[in-house]
Amino acid sequence: MGKVDGLGFSTRLRIDLAAIRANYRLIADRVAPAECTAVVKANAYGLGVGKVVPALYREGCRTFFVAQLCEAFDVRDAAGPGSSIFILNGLDPGCEEICAEQGFVPVLNSVSQITRWRSLARAQGRMLPAALQVDSGMSRLGLDWAATADLAADPGASRDILFQLIMTHLACADTPDACANAAQLDLFAAACRLFPGVPASIANSGGVFLQPGFHQGAVRPGIALYGSAPNAFASDVRPVVRLDARIIQIREIGAGRGVGYGLDYVAPGTRRIATVGIGYGDGWPRSLGGRGAVWFDGHRLPVVGRISMDSLAIDITALGADTLREGDMVELLGPSQSLEDVAQDAGAISYEILTRLGARHQRVYVDGDHEDILAPGAY
Ligand SMILES: *Cc1c(COP(=O)(O)O)cnc(C)c1O
Repeated sequence: MGKVDGLGFSTRLRIDLAAIRANYRLIADRVAPAECTAVVKANAYGLGVGKVVPALYREGCRTFFVAQLCEAFDVRDAAGPGSSIFILNGLDPGCEEICAEQGFVPVLNSVSQITRWRSLARAQGRMLPAALQVDSGMSRLGLDWAATADLAADPGASRDILFQLIMTHLACADTPDACANAAQLDLFAAACRLFPGVPASIANSGGVFLQPGFHQGAVRPGIALYGSAPNAFASDVRPVVRLDARIIQIREIGAGRGVGYGLDYVAPGTRRIATVGIGYGDGWPRSLGGRGAVWFDGHRLPVVGRISMDSLAIDITALGADTLREGDMVELLGPSQSLEDVAQDAGAISYEILTRLGARHQRVYVDGDHEDILAPGAY
């Protein structure tokens, strides 16, 4: 309580749920009859599972992936009946019982995880569901070839575990020409032949926009749902987020005056400088000091000096004297500047820009004519 509606905050993050739904449909149509699932780890890449998951459910999504067991609870609360929730990072030792009791499906990535899941199955006298991940070349998570073959050869395994999915992850799906994609596809196909009848999944967003051979039984898009094109074939993906921040002060400085911490920027002549109420405490990367820009009415306004925790400075000399005033909002993400543009300037990737944004913005969830406004910290 005590929050001032629509005032008293410096940044506004607009999240277009209709665009997320359209991106889901785009992918689902492209991959049909393969199932289109949704990766909603890290709070749906920072956009908020409480809003994103129901929107996806409405479009028909019934399978959700999180990274950690603790993330699965909020997803289940937000999803409707008939949903399955898979845990990509697998089963931490000691989490087996809670995972089974809650009905979450672990992705089993190692021999020890399989052993522990099987022991619980035998102790409970029932089969337990799981996905199996094989490492087809990325060396991140999953069984190597020898362990995969051993598992397939052990008839006891399929009495203890009901394999709902066999999966692997592409290292280079953002680079369609990479030889690694075909190599991973071949190795994965060989692993899948050892588990006949189990649905297979290899594609993240990048894989969705490779050849149909990558679609298999189910695809696992994340970033494309949230509006960033994973590779050059994904140009139909619709942007989802818009971020604006407020001008909190404007001043004119003379030649030789410094701006910001370290006085990194020194004005080469008379300049009009605006201080904007967004900084690294809002997830705006510090690496954009002296490099990035914000936009207003089609004008690119360069960042000058370092990014502070709660503000950054821009040079607005190019605009007419009274064009911008205190209280006006400028665009940081939107039609003039995409996630990819910012990522490029920041030496980051769109995923990183998105997941860093955090809880400090006023959030406006838009779905067609409907708007739901949440105060900073309240999503
Ligand atoms: C994060 C993740 C995805 C989704 O990746 P995007 O590139 O965001 O589509 C899919 N599969 C696995 C295993 C992941 O870790």
